[in-house]
Amino acid sequence: MGLVTYINGQFVPKEEAKISVFDHGYLYGDGIFEGIRVYHGRVFRLDEHVKRLYDSAHYLMLEIPLSPEQMKQAILETVRRCGLRDAYIRPVVSRGVGDLGLDPRKCKTASVVIIVDTIQLHPEEAYLRGLRAIHATTRKVRPDALSPQAKTLNYLNGIMARMEANLAGVDEAIMLTSDGYVCECSAENIFLVRGGEVWTPAPYLGILKGITRETVMGLVRELGLPMLEKVFTMYDVYTAEECFLTGTGAEVGPVVEVDSRRIGTGAPGPTTLRVMKLFRELTRREGTPIYETEVVEGRT
Ligand code: PMP
Repeated sequence: MGLVTYINGQFVPKEEAKISVFDHGYLYGDGIFEGIRVYHGRVFRLDEHVKRLYDSAHYLMLEIPLSPEQMKQAILETVRRCGLRDAYIRPVVSRGVGDLGLDPRKCKTASVVIIVDTIQLHPEEAYLRGLRAIHATTRKVRPDALSPQAKTLNYLNGIMARMEANLAGVDEAIMLTSDGYVCECSAENIFLVRGGEVWTPAPYLGILKGITRETVMGLVRELGLPMLEKVFTMYDVYTAEECFLTGTGAEVGPVVEVDSRRIGTGAPGPTTLRVMKLFRELTRREGTPIYETEVVEGRT
């Protein structure tokens, strides 16, 4: 079975999935997206991802021509048609076809695309040995300029940081706020283990409140450890016992070296390993089943 993409109510083979060059998603990055995982035939945290998609749309005053329930059904049906039990889903809603000016009023209908494919952000071996990171000179966009809560199609800020990591020959880039506080990674949230506590940057610093972050905060509390949202600097990262990152694509990834400083023992730490194990177990257990829900045809 080949991969199928949903485009504006049609299910088409991956190779035929095409969007107009006049779509403002292409011309201006005017649009939004989500990244969702399917584990063992279940879509993990589907409601939370769809809610965030509609919140991003609301922020940009972008009208999605499907109800949230229709969006969920379209997502499930696209996965079903791909025949995958483990996959990555990328719903994308762009402003639609307009003219060459940036006025969104020229775009009559938003384009809705649902891509299903597989994903592996880092090789398995990187999770065993731990990831290496730098902190990027590229600062996070201030939250009063563009809200980090909205997952827009404009990811240049994170891409600039990611290029710095590539040039440094490491796996990830940690990004700081314009004031120099630790914010998040190029496309993941960051956690530290310090003195038996677990820290993650406070949302008001301008992070994306990751769905994996929320899940992991719950798991840390289940372990009986204090889970704190804090403001901290690179000094706290360098001197932490453990560091890990979280994201839908990367899941929970241990970080063992930052800016050429060894973190803790230089190997994935015990708390990180417990969180990774609990997270994997949770993804096996929870989620919306793909093959037990109603089939709907396209857009209504
Ligand atoms: N921060 C940024 C900037 C991201 O793009 C992502 C990935 N969506 C995350 C954090 C992690 O969020 P989530 O756990 O919801 O994937």
